[in-house]
Amino acid sequence: MQKLVTILGSTGSIGKNALDVIAQHPDAFSVHALTAHSSTEQLFEQCLKYQPLYAVLGSEKAAMALKKKLQLSALKTEVLYGPSALCEVASSSSADIVIAGIVGAAGLMPTLSAIKAGKRVLLANKEALVMAGDIMMKTSLEAQAELMPIDSEHNALLQCMPAGYHPGYSPDGVEKIILTASGGPFRKLSIKELAHVSPQAALCHPNWVMGPKISIDSATMMNKGLEIIEAFYLFKVKLSQIDVIVHPQSLIHALVTYRDGSVLAQLGYPDMRTPIAAALSWPNRIQSGVKPIDLATLTSLDFELPDEKRFPCLNLAKEALQEGGVMPTVMNASNEVAVKAFLNHACSFNEIPTIIKRVMMQTQPKKAMDIETILEADHLSRLKAHSIIKSYSDI
Ligand code: NAD
Ligand code: MG
Repeated sequence: MQKLVTILGSTGSIGKNALDVIAQHPDAFSVHALTAHSSTEQLFEQCLKYQPLYAVLGSEKAAMALKKKLQLSALKTEVLYGPSALCEVASSSSADIVIAGIVGAAGLMPTLSAIKAGKRVLLANKEALVMAGDIMMKTSLEAQAELMPIDSEHNALLQCMPAGYHPGYSPDGVEKIILTASGGPFRKLSIKELAHVSPQAALCHPNWVMGPKISIDSATMMNKGLEIIEAFYLFKVKLSQIDVIVHPQSLIHALVTYRDGSVLAQLGYPDMRTPIAAALSWPNRIQSGVKPIDLATLTSLDFELPDEKRFPCLNLAKEALQEGGVMPTVMNASNEVAVKAFLNHACSFNEIPTIIKRVMMQTQPKKAMDIETILEADHLSRLKAHSIIKSYSDI
């Protein structure tokens, strides 16, 4: 039976990799809906190729432009727009699989809608889980959704878990889970040198080709901080059971250590099509277009401990998780604002963690009881982060 797939954020790096895998298996998958924020032209090209039932854009204006183009090409794809349309296509009864590939907090509500509707959800949008981990995991168990991580490390962890394991449960016999980190483009720079790095240099990840936000997160190592929180919720382990090790070659994506001394690792070239294919077909395996690693061509696999002095974002994420409640949301929101400011030359690289820390310090701890509380904390943190950034430019 062919499975119908909704791709949230189909014009992004995750979205395009997902479409590449889907195109390799026309008998197994077809596209239900594609969504993009504003890239009308790219979404139009994707509609021509994949002929989805629905296409969603961020604004009415963008949607009208796409509609006109589709009419001229005699395509029947229905065009919708806005946040409620994203939730609609994510929870539609015809969709079997939803790929959560929107970047940042904008992905939270559509991802949650897909979970509520009991879909197989391929989660790339880690920010959603950081903001609302408890609610997402609880809803997933209640709705019997299949939450499948496609973040490469978490997908690797899933692959190394005991047979029959499902995310949301504590794995049997597991002592530690170990996330590998490439260390990003500035792994060897001093704090002094980091103060002067440019957005262009930060965007050049040594191993992965990704969207701008996660590329900056990788350079600050906030990406690994977000991934610690992501692993905490997905695999229901204690924070003390999660380790991070820098592995510059990005060939081992994660490891699981067991009570009996066994260490299981997943290896693969840094290509998102592998975790996407694994999650699309799990527990079966399909081709992804990626070849297995040729061990004879490898010169070395290196490891080092992360330097939390030069990359303080790692600790900020741990602090936010330990504080709990809305603090991970606060950290995530201020990080999103700070990353945008850095990309727009409105703050320096080393000011990113400073901004996040200041917003966290200005926030009273509060339980994350419901989505409204989380969205309010997200909104207020953004205002605080903006005002801190503005104070920098006023000096
Ligand atoms: P990207 O910037 O390349 O793509 C983002 C997609 O989201 C685009 O289709 C864009 O149109 C859409 N989008 C952006 N803002 C939106 C909004 N406000 N409303 C609706 N849609 C919006 O990002 P990416 O690199 O593909 O990353 C997507 C997510 O996957 C992120 O959460 C990232 O952390 C995670 N992730 C990415 C990779 C990777 O290799 N790129 C790996 C692991 C995890
Ligand atoms: Mg990752």
